[in-house]
Amino acid sequence: MSGPGPDSRFDAFKLAARASSVSGSVDARRLPNVADSLAPGDDPAPIAWTVEGGASAEGRPAISIAIEGVVPLVCQRCLARLDWPVSQRTEVLLAHDEGELERLDAETEGEVVLADQQLDAATLVEVELVLTLPFAPRHEGECPGRQ
Ligand SMILES: [Zn+2]
Repeated sequence: MSGPGPDSRFDAFKLAARASSVSGSVDARRLPNVADSLAPGDDPAPIAWTVEGGASAEGRPAISIAIEGVVPLVCQRCLARLDWPVSQRTEVLLAHDEGELERLDAETEGEVVLADQQLDAATLVEVELVLTLPFAPRHEGECPGRQ
């Protein structure tokens, strides 16, 4: 065992050209932009991720990011913990430089990421989680735990 954790960096254009994939797991509690939204606790909230390289429908280099796990949130009605299942897959176009990033952003509805250097899967997962998690989560129907 060495280092702070598994290396989640990869070359996105290479991945796309080879149509290969990388996968791993990241603890949502370790993602700074997500941690504040989580229910307090020390239990890890592992999110399994897979990044698959390929091409978009238009033939542009792209990666698809799949995340799966359960995120402990706080119900905004009863303030109790609410386990929020996450399971989604997002296609992201790759840009070689800032100019291409702007152009693709204007041309397409989807997400575009600047991949002029190695991408960190943990950062991608963080972005996807921030976009996915509800702003005001609530238990479905009645809140449990009323005594
Ligand atoms: Zn509730």
